[in-house]
Amino acid sequence: MADDPGDTIVAPATAPGEAAVALIRVSGPAALGLAARHFRGSRSPEESPSHHILFGQFVDGRGDPVDTVLVSIFRAPRSYTGEDVVEISSHGGAVVPAAILDTLIRSGARPARPGEFTERAFRNGKLDLAQAEAVAALVRSRSDSAARAAGATLGGALSRRVDRLDAALVALLAEVEARIDFPADAGEPLDAVALARRCGALASEIEEWVQGLPGARRRESGLSVVLAGPPNVGKSSLLNALVGYDRAIVSEIPGTTRDTVESSIWIEGIELRLTDTAGLRESHDPVERLGIERTASALERTDLAVVVLDRSDPEASVTALGSSGSPSRPVVVAWNKADLARGRAAMGGRWAGTPLEGRTVLAEVETVAIAPAGAAPLRNALRDSLPSILGGAAGDEVPATSARQEALLADALAALRRAEAGLAADESYDLIAVDLTEARRSLGEMVGRGVDQGVIAAVFARFCIGK
Ligand code: GDP
Repeated sequence: MADDPGDTIVAPATAPGEAAVALIRVSGPAALGLAARHFRGSRSPEESPSHHILFGQFVDGRGDPVDTVLVSIFRAPRSYTGEDVVEISSHGGAVVPAAILDTLIRSGARPARPGEFTERAFRNGKLDLAQAEAVAALVRSRSDSAARAAGATLGGALSRRVDRLDAALVALLAEVEARIDFPADAGEPLDAVALARRCGALASEIEEWVQGLPGARRRESGLSVVLAGPPNVGKSSLLNALVGYDRAIVSEIPGTTRDTVESSIWIEGIELRLTDTAGLRESHDPVERLGIERTASALERTDLAVVVLDRSDPEASVTALGSSGSPSRPVVVAWNKADLARGRAAMGGRWAGTPLEGRTVLAEVETVAIAPAGAAPLRNALRDSLPSILGGAAGDEVPATSARQEALLADALAALRRAEAGLAADESYDLIAVDLTEARRSLGEMVGRGVDQGVIAAVFARFCIGK
């Protein structure tokens, strides 16, 4: 793990596989020299100014051409890592990028560990730890809202928020420390009360941030939605209709694989991962009982349950729901097969004695899973239920916050509340200063101040190679 900041690292920056272009990134003191040794073009990378792109041939150790490439030059410190960086764009695929990588490694570059480029950027002061974590979050994001939140953190929104809170804390701490050093000056009795109030205001600001996190996290990670209901009411058909609608849009984006969109839909930039409990029934065990148990447990863990019922035979399908396994999560009811209803009375809202009794039923809609656009009412109901599931807090203002940062924020909050209580109780200013310092330390660690090597290593270990 020992890092030699003097060595030069290399890694593919693009995902492997068939692609028009692949990018290989080299960073370190030997980057320009290595590129020069394996590049034939009108100008040598070693002589090129920064931020220029050179066109030519990449050649292997014997001087044989490997591919026609573009070589981008970024000289230290004006690069992603802060070191000399060379980015080689070649044709994609299984062979060419591997040959280029192999050649560079034979010439002395070391394969980069996951996240090592960003780690160097962090060590060279190009990014703080919060921004570095946001890089990983941005690459991992699966929805617009996740990408926006990560982008906000990368752009410094989280760091600025932390800095602002820290500045207020420093001012408070200075006053508390002045009273330790010069107790005689410690003015009127009202003094501690005023300080306690300032402390409380800061704590409340952090508390508000903490309270917005679960919603923000869901917005970023997406919601799980389970489709449940009696057999044969059209759960799979509805799921296919929802996903099919989306797939038609998504498949226009080149390179989008079917697998990744198989059972997710995106509504207003938020991913909804759909699970059809019918699928859970494909089991060798005694079918129905197990199915019901699994449905019940899926319903416990989901963010939202869609209970599908048969509009053509409402009484029977409500009876088939049984009376156990109540979903504790919010529910949207889809009365499917509305095309077969033939004048039968609607059953809306009559849930006494069913698993839905006493549950939050956000909406009831009628659907025809097998008709074009027949699932649209359900899609609309899902969209309308998002605010209540995400906690309503409008906008995407909460910058992406990692689990590590959330824990630190909670620590800072606890320390501030202790300081506030201490001030109110007229405790010694030494103790108050300890708590305030503790709060500062936690906030600082959010952006990487004073974190130990183990934490830094753990953060970067979660990155992909080449980042
Ligand atoms: P599941 O067991 O709840 O997943 O139900 P399926 O999706 O497998 O559907 C059961 C049957 O009902 C299939 O033959 C579907 O074609 C049919 N079906 C599903 N939705 C509708 C609908 O809205 N109207 C009509 N008429 N048939 C439907």
